[in-house]
Amino acid sequence: MDTTRTELASLGEFGLINHINSRFSLQNPESIKGIGDDAAVIAQDATHYTLLSTDMLVEGVHFDLSYTPLPHLGFKAVAVNVSDIAAMYGIPKQIVIGLAVSNRFSVEAIDAFYEGVKAACDTFKVDLIGGDTTSSRSGLVISISVVGVTEHDKVVYRNTAKPTDIVCVTGDLGAAYLGLQVLEREKQVYMQDPSMQPELTGREYILQRQLRPSARMDIIHELREMGIIPTAMIDVSDGVASDILHICKQSNVGVALFEDKIPIDATAYDTAIELKLDPIVCALNGGEDYELLFTIQQSDYEKIKNHADISLIGYIQEAAKGNELVTKSGNRIALQAQGWTHF
Ligand code: ADP
Ligand code: MG
Repeated sequence: MDTTRTELASLGEFGLINHINSRFSLQNPESIKGIGDDAAVIAQDATHYTLLSTDMLVEGVHFDLSYTPLPHLGFKAVAVNVSDIAAMYGIPKQIVIGLAVSNRFSVEAIDAFYEGVKAACDTFKVDLIGGDTTSSRSGLVISISVVGVTEHDKVVYRNTAKPTDIVCVTGDLGAAYLGLQVLEREKQVYMQDPSMQPELTGREYILQRQLRPSARMDIIHELREMGIIPTAMIDVSDGVASDILHICKQSNVGVALFEDKIPIDATAYDTAIELKLDPIVCALNGGEDYELLFTIQQSDYEKIKNHADISLIGYIQEAAKGNELVTKSGNRIALQAQGWTHF
């Protein structure tokens, strides 16, 4: 009998996914794309693909109910799923929700959660079409799956970026991470002295980025109207450094990102300084931004260069040139993903 025991921590999240993936191959011709992108791609008809993605949120790991309003949590749980459909250049259509709830919860609490789910369904025009409900002995677990659609010639993968493509990112980066740091700090203060009121005024933006992030379907609709199909795309869930490296690894290319082009919100910047954190490190590695990170051909530059909510942060280069960060002083250093270890 083989008694070898391998710790999950030795593989990490991505190593574990690769490990699982290596044991499976696709058997059905309808399975166009399996493990490895933001959503799976399934044959639908002569012109369209179905997209399918799932994401789980676990109390104590992904959220803390002591400072997370339930309507925000409901909205976020849907938005993070929609974001994966957006990252395929798709349009979300339906969701199913699996809930494991402890008896600590009241009907009113469930109603509050579903109020946020409803708001997200209305915002992203998706239908809640099913799910599953069970009891939990260890906190709230939310599992949502989303179905979307895209045209055969308009599906965007992670593995198709080409040297000279321009790297673009929507919105700003690092705010969700800094919002979380502020919430955690205020929680600690409160636990030591419950008479203390949390100091959150003026930080509404970064708190909202953490507690109630949206998905950038607005950008997908705009890109479609502008006739821009990215060459590769991913949504920023782990941090832009980690996520661009997914595109690079899967596309077998390298990248150069410019430190001074990384978009950082002013409140996020000031909060980082106050917490003695490096704003650029927060922006590159923070995660949970749910912005879109994509590459475009040089020929689309003119169409996108003046877009107020899209930053051009670098370019794709040959793999041999590596993954680089060009610092403000012009030095080229290795771009590394600090990412997050779940185990
Ligand atoms: P994202 O952050 O975009 O949701 P993940 O990093 O969670 O993507 O997952 C990357 C890929 O690995 C996806 O294709 C996802 O479906 C797949 N995946 C993740 N966990 C598992 C698992 N336990 N079994 C099979 N595939 C998985
Ligand atoms: Mg994703």
